[in-house]
Amino acid sequence: MEVKTFDIEAIRRDFPVLDQEVNGYPLVYLDNAATSQKPTVVVDSLRDYYLKINSNIHRGVHHLSQVATDAFEQTREKVRDFINAEHSHEIIFTSGTTEGINLVAHVLGKKVIEPWHEILISEMEHHSNIVPWQLLAEYTGAKLVTIPITDEGELDMEEYHTLLNENTAIVAVSHISNSLGTINPVKEIIASAHEVNAWVLIDGAQSAPHMRIDVRDLDADFYVFSAHKMCGPTGVGVLYGKESILNELPPYKGGGEMISEVSMEKSTYADLPHKFEAGTPNIGEVVAFKSALDYLDEVGLENIAAYEHELLAYAMEKLSTIEGIVFHGTAKKKTSVISFNLKGIHPYDVGMILDKLGVAVRTGHHCTQPVMKRYDIPGTVRASMAFYNTKEEIDRLYNAVLKAQQMLS
Ligand code: PMP
Repeated sequence: MEVKTFDIEAIRRDFPVLDQEVNGYPLVYLDNAATSQKPTVVVDSLRDYYLKINSNIHRGVHHLSQVATDAFEQTREKVRDFINAEHSHEIIFTSGTTEGINLVAHVLGKKVIEPWHEILISEMEHHSNIVPWQLLAEYTGAKLVTIPITDEGELDMEEYHTLLNENTAIVAVSHISNSLGTINPVKEIIASAHEVNAWVLIDGAQSAPHMRIDVRDLDADFYVFSAHKMCGPTGVGVLYGKESILNELPPYKGGGEMISEVSMEKSTYADLPHKFEAGTPNIGEVVAFKSALDYLDEVGLENIAAYEHELLAYAMEKLSTIEGIVFHGTAKKKTSVISFNLKGIHPYDVGMILDKLGVAVRTGHHCTQPVMKRYDIPGTVRASMAFYNTKEEIDRLYNAVLKAQQMLS
């Protein structure tokens, strides 16, 4: 589908970092799955916060504290709207996806998980959606169970349905795989899990930047993502949780902000969302995150998804013509992540040559070692695209891959 309303030149002007040379070539930034670039409005917002309203929030009666608190809470409301949550107090600010998953795994361990429970995750998860569950299984005695993946890099849904059972307490899967690009059928995953009364956590680190998320339509119990992959600052993430579930769970960290009353004998806890937000948060970065979400809304997530799909199709068509290229992750439903290898050549060597030619990709296991084991490979070269990339940049990638192949064969 041709995207007509997309002014790519204007969009690229919003990202000054793209306009530079690396090793004597114009930079081609294709490492967006690791972190996105930031438009000027986001950097301006961060600067404005520190130059004009910096103050600690929620506690102060003075003017600046109130202005900062309002700005911080406006981001919470923006996030609520962005993912169509019912209440803004269902939005918990974290430091990122990793902390969101650790928070949920930790508090489930305090109250919900019993030794006879099963925790269901998949073979394609990022390490941040594996290790916290392994820790939880370790200290509760619960069993960690894995949904396998197919040769194409899709979840084996038949196996998923077989593995789900009355003992399953929580299912934790990514909406989109960061190393394969697979878009998982999370609505179906959630509906089936609910039939056995299991809760579902969706790792949305790779989906929130690329598609419209509707947590109510998905009926997700928990949904986590990171601002820095969505044109926002680092150090900020979101944990969405259903009000009824978050109310049932105990706090994660103790400290200021999360209490109602403290005596030397006992403390009572604040209401949502503060119960899960101990200590001073990353205020300026949360405030600037709103500018990132406003920016994405302005470009339009539907436009972004359509444009990136077009880029993916173009890139796949070109790269497929390279003899000896092997793609890892060829799911029917995919986002703009291309993982590949060149036969007989180590991915790291390809990445090094691409960098010499100004093309930034990532090489290695992408924090998904079980995926690499599944395909018996040391790693992949991963080109991950964003809405500010162009077909000309894909041509540069293609030519650089050909050159790397010539040099390394
Ligand atoms: N899950 C997935 C699918 C990811 O791609 C990433 C980041 N690469 C994470 C979790 C962790 O995100 P963060 O480092 O921002 O916490």
